[in-house]
Amino acid sequence: MFCKIARHEIASQIVYEDDQVVAFRDVNPVAPVHILVIPKKHVPAVTALDDKDKELIGHIVLVIKKLAQETSVVEDGFRVVVNAGKHAGQRVPHLHFHLLGGKAMGWPPG
Ligand code: 5GP
Repeated sequence: MFCKIARHEIASQIVYEDDQVVAFRDVNPVAPVHILVIPKKHVPAVTALDDKDKELIGHIVLVIKKLAQETSVVEDGFRVVVNAGKHAGQRVPHLHFHLLGGKAMGWPPG
């Protein structure tokens, strides 16, 4: 499904895009800022990454930093979440990084 968002075949609120990644607003936000950052190439989960993806992952983290700055969540703080598998509640089998901010968040997760 996220491959279709990356190919613009499903409508989404895209906030950033380049040749490697797409970032878009979560359809069901759990924080005032809730953006998903995905690689354009299909990677099912973080467990499917290998050595050749090092540059891609570094790039994604720098895109997250840029989006955190643009959405003004740096000063108060923000969270980056990658769910993997059943216990984490991963629902979409395409690697995605949640950028969450705009409110205080509890820890540890329930
Ligand atoms: P997960 O639980 O897999 O880590 O997170 C999947 C996230 O994708 C959820 O927060 C969910 O709201 C979001 N999501 C699922 N389908 C869509 C969609 O079609 N469009 C957008 N923008 N977000 C989606």
